[in-house]
Amino acid sequence: MPQALVETLFLGGIASLLLGLLVCIGIAYPRALRDRALERRGDETARAATPPPAAAPAYEPPPLEIAEPIAAEPVVEERPPAAAAPPTPAPAPPRVAPDYKRGLRISRKAFIGRLQNLLSGKGELDSQTLEEVEEILFAADLGVATADDLLQVARSASSPGEVTARLESRAVEILAGLPPAHVELAEPVHVILVVGVNGSGKTTSIGKLAHRYMTEGKRVMVAAADTYRAAAIDQLAVWAERAGVDIVKGTPGGDPASVAFDAVKSAPTRDVNVVIIDTAGRLQTDQGLMDELNKIQRVVQKEIPSAPHEVILVLDGNTGQNAIRQAQEFSRSVTVSSILLSKLDGTAKGGVVLGIAQEIGLPVRYVGMGEGVGDLYDFDAEEFARALFAPADSGEATPS
Ligand code: GDP
Ligand code: GDP
Ligand code: MG
Repeated sequence: MPQALVETLFLGGIASLLLGLLVCIGIAYPRALRDRALERRGDETARAATPPPAAAPAYEPPPLEIAEPIAAEPVVEERPPAAAAPPTPAPAPPRVAPDYKRGLRISRKAFIGRLQNLLSGKGELDSQTLEEVEEILFAADLGVATADDLLQVARSASSPGEVTARLESRAVEILAGLPPAHVELAEPVHVILVVGVNGSGKTTSIGKLAHRYMTEGKRVMVAAADTYRAAAIDQLAVWAERAGVDIVKGTPGGDPASVAFDAVKSAPTRDVNVVIIDTAGRLQTDQGLMDELNKIQRVVQKEIPSAPHEVILVLDGNTGQNAIRQAQEFSRSVTVSSILLSKLDGTAKGGVVLGIAQEIGLPVRYVGMGEGVGDLYDFDAEEFARALFAPADSGEATPS
């Protein structure tokens, strides 16, 4: 063999070895970065879910091919691993630390504040007073059955001073009757479908929820299956950025089910623990759009038969007892697993939780009390009832 050929082969061999080494480092290093970031947050769970760097050369981002009946071309935007961790080590936030009293300020003013004004200084519970109690109860938009229930409780009080205490214990009782809302995350991927009427707060709540799972060390992906308006996709993208999570987007006007499908399909290969699917707002009476929800469910089940593991219905606290009707109607088309009650901070109708508990019986899992990324709280029945009936603070008792 000629000397020149041997030399060329030798140099070529060294060059390929170097190239291979660089590729390995290129793949393993970002993973090591992420592992380090997770380690800094002391999160064992998320770390365990990350395959060791040694397996890295076998890793190949999956091609985003779309299954046969699905037409749109979803785009996956993966955050760089380092961005998945907050810059400073943050301990997981407590799951229940809501300031319900603050969040329910307006509701208390319109409800307990008015009751207090009416009852203080009254000597006895005459029929005139009871009529005014009735008026306040019905104005609180709790739902007719619940307002009636509470009115009976008020009637049974022996003095005006006893009314609010009796109402409060009845409220605690009603909310305590709700089924538990806690859900264990499915392994390896937990899929959450978020539904509700237009403007109820779905996208905002998804942003908050994504942020929350992320700070708990989960890798989160949101899916913009509200393809009806381009602005809806952008809005979710802004929230994904804010929360530091991955997003799968479709094209405006594309098939929502295809986006959901793509998210669920690509999640396992991207080490995603939680997929949250945003959907277009729909009226409970629009059968076509309700069928679309069923299609999303069907398509998602092709990839993960047990999915969606949760269907969260977002109800706007401002809608009062209309929220009860929405819950009833949505339950006819999809199996709602729990309710997220949004915008409680801006409404006088927070008491609708009582109506939801009494007339729907679905667990209330979360309450939204603000537009910030941290304004989503676990629902705690007892604390919530106590806050709803807490004496209005001075300066708060007079309805404006
Ligand atoms: P969607 O149409 O169901 O996705 O609803 P969006 O998430 O777009 O929310 C509709 C509006 O409600 C937006 O202006 C949100 O900022 C606002 N919103 C959502 N949740 C809350 C909340 O908990 N408190 C307040 N004050 N506003 C909220
Ligand atoms: P219209 O003004 O009463 O015709 O109703 P819309 O403007 O709300 O919707 C027009 C068409 O788009 C209807 O056939 C709806 O079924 C459909 N549509 C409305 N919203 C959505 C959505 O969120 N997703 C999809 N895929 N189709 C929708
Ligand atoms: Mg939305």
